[in-house]
Amino acid sequence: MRILLVEDDPQIGAAIDSALQDADMAADWVTDGSAALASIEAGAFELVLLDIGLPKQDGFSVLKCLRQKRNSIPVIIITARDAVEDRIAGLDLGADDYLVKPFLVGELLARIRAVARRHSGSAQPEISNGEFSINPVYKTVQFNNSAVELTGKEYRLIQTLVRSAGRIYSREELEEKVYGWEEEVNSNAIEFLIHSLRKKTDKSAIKNVRGLGWMVPKA
Ligand code: CA
Repeated sequence: MRILLVEDDPQIGAAIDSALQDADMAADWVTDGSAALASIEAGAFELVLLDIGLPKQDGFSVLKCLRQKRNSIPVIIITARDAVEDRIAGLDLGADDYLVKPFLVGELLARIRAVARRHSGSAQPEISNGEFSINPVYKTVQFNNSAVELTGKEYRLIQTLVRSAGRIYSREELEEKVYGWEEEVNSNAIEFLIHSLRKKTDKSAIKNVRGLGWMVPKA
């Protein structure tokens, strides 16, 4: 899952950023409201962690802008403001959840998973296309009921494909889902990951659609 972190406090931002990387979530981090809006509009993110007190444009205004443009990307507000009115304002503006700093990393990760689940319309933690079954809580993957050991990047790639089974993803889309901004991406990196995933499962587990990209079949 690719997450945009919007936080202007360098210490808090670095702590959350590294916690997300440790959890194999591809996180990118911006420090003001205008950069947040530009990044979200450029696409590729599946969830936003949004601070309220931010330079240029505060979190409430970012959220308002998004929802006015009918952008329904899940947003979790993270803020030190614990006043009830602030929570109400955030939720009324269309936030999906609200977490008051300081919070435990475990709670943040659980909220992220819960919001992502609700957003994908499924209350089940498992995601599956019939062949692959992925448990995002334990980050375990099974292929035809046998456990498969994957690297973090392989996991992100297969999670993206299985979450939207039947949809074709282009190379660029997969690169955006699997890698953060700061990572160098080799031109054949995605092919390499797919090759390795097929080797660990089955040649036909991931289909290549010539000229368009890759997909896993829908159950
Ligand atoms: Ca702040």
